[in-house]
Amino acid sequence: MENLLQNLMSTEDLADNFKESKPSYNAQEALDEANRCLYCYDAPCITACPTGINIPSFIKKIASGNLKGSAKTIMEANPVGASCARVCPTEELCEGACVLNDSTKPIMIGDLQRFATDWAIKNEQVLFKKGEKNGKNIAIVGSGPAGLSAARELGRMGYEVTVFEGKKEAGGLDTHGIVPFRLPKDISLWEVEQVENVGVEIRTNVEVGKDIFTDDLVLNYDAVMLAVGMSKVPKLGIEGEDLAGICDAIELVEETKNKNYSAEFAGKRVAVIGAGNTAIDGATTSVRLGADNVQILYRRTEAEMTAYEFEYEFAKQEGVEFRWLTAPKRLIGDNKGYLKQMECVQMELQETGSDGRRRPVEIQGSEFLIDVDIVVKAIGQTRHTHIIDAFGLEHNGGVVKVDPETYLTSNPKVYAAGDAIFGKGIGEAMVVSAAQQGKETAYAIHQQLVESRTECV
Ligand SMILES: Cc1cc2nc3c(=O)[nH]c(=O)nc-3n(C[C@H](O)[C@H](O)[C@H](O)COP(=O)(O)OP(=O)(O)OC[C@H]3O[C@@H](n4cnc5c(N)ncnc54)[C@H](O)[C@@H]3O)c2cc1C
Ligand code: SF4
Repeated sequence: MENLLQNLMSTEDLADNFKESKPSYNAQEALDEANRCLYCYDAPCITACPTGINIPSFIKKIASGNLKGSAKTIMEANPVGASCARVCPTEELCEGACVLNDSTKPIMIGDLQRFATDWAIKNEQVLFKKGEKNGKNIAIVGSGPAGLSAARELGRMGYEVTVFEGKKEAGGLDTHGIVPFRLPKDISLWEVEQVENVGVEIRTNVEVGKDIFTDDLVLNYDAVMLAVGMSKVPKLGIEGEDLAGICDAIELVEETKNKNYSAEFAGKRVAVIGAGNTAIDGATTSVRLGADNVQILYRRTEAEMTAYEFEYEFAKQEGVEFRWLTAPKRLIGDNKGYLKQMECVQMELQETGSDGRRRPVEIQGSEFLIDVDIVVKAIGQTRHTHIIDAFGLEHNGGVVKVDPETYLTSNPKVYAAGDAIFGKGIGEAMVVSAAQQGKETAYAIHQQLVESRTECV
């Protein structure tokens, strides 16, 4: 009984660790912050936001108590504006451009954006209406920020839009991949509902390429948009990878988004391989699952890590340790097949490679062992090449090639946006940029279909 009670208590504690960690503004704090805004003419923050939200306008509406108007201004420009309020690297975007950086501190745009959109969520606001039917239909593959943003804009323009989503719930990485203590799932699911409110049909549990043929989509719809994002974390490609105790950072986060808190991490030594945002999420999730020691191993140095500065700072505050210039070489198990040690090797950086980054090279004879119970892989993401090939699209190693203005692929009926077109030095993997590309794709599809209608007349 006592053991059972302890287990129940620890599950509750774990659930607590995954609640949203940053408190939201109360009404007075929001008002005080809104009143600091200078409402600049030609405000640089608007240009710095990839979705071009009219930031002074939404802040002014908070100051005047028009919270619905404020939320509408945000969501009009950014269909995933409630998620972005929590996950955008604001220091590098809107807040980084605020003129107050030169004197005091920037306006906390993300926090104000969260205040206004949270109000709309709590008050069950329906912000947009569907457009009058125009007789054209569009298929969108994938319901992440790119697919949802395109769907919402097309729905408002009167298109009959069907979104096909392989998972059981829509929302892409906002729903499944970004840690719940920064972005709770309900926020993203509210954005999904807003898209459904403009008449968009979202068919979940339907994997295109398996449950529906790609040719059928191309044949039966006026245009198709590919918004499948990226796929799993690749294999490390080292000996011992099949041992028990090796997991994928994205799958690990997804479990916690679904409120499945693994008991395997409690008191364990965890090594996370990689140093991007996924690695940070894998590491901080491990800490919150009760790991005793969590270290991030990266084959380059702090200067080359790709994680956002605020994510890096957050990981350090959570007690995550960093081992630079260190790469895994071999995973070693015990006689029951459980991971117990990892052989690592010291690296050094040599000349700059074709990707513009200095090349890490092993230092001969520098191998050493560390004791470890769990390894979390976070070395990037593979591509959905099978589906790209099934559509017969030109791509560069899984990065779909598109016209940068129209997002049109090598197939004149198929468009692509979001993480599916990110990589090989092109674009950025961010929620806000996927949202903007989704909107732009919707306008490009509309332009093409309007033009073809005009030609027929
Ligand atoms: C761990 C992690 C943390 C991140 N943190 C941040 C952050 O803090 N801030 C930030 O701005 N960005 C962050 N990102 C990046 C951001 O999440 C992505 O850039 C963004 O979600 C890309 O949107 P998307 O719509 O292109 O793809 P996704 O969000 O990946 O959505 C693609 C959707 O397509 C579906 N799909 C795939 N194949 C098929 C198929 N064949 N049939 C049907 N459906 C299919 C998938 O299930 C998925 O739902 C993070 C990414 C990861 C992995
Ligand atoms: S969407 Fe992101 S970048 Fe744009 S204003 Fe909001 S927090 Fe800033």
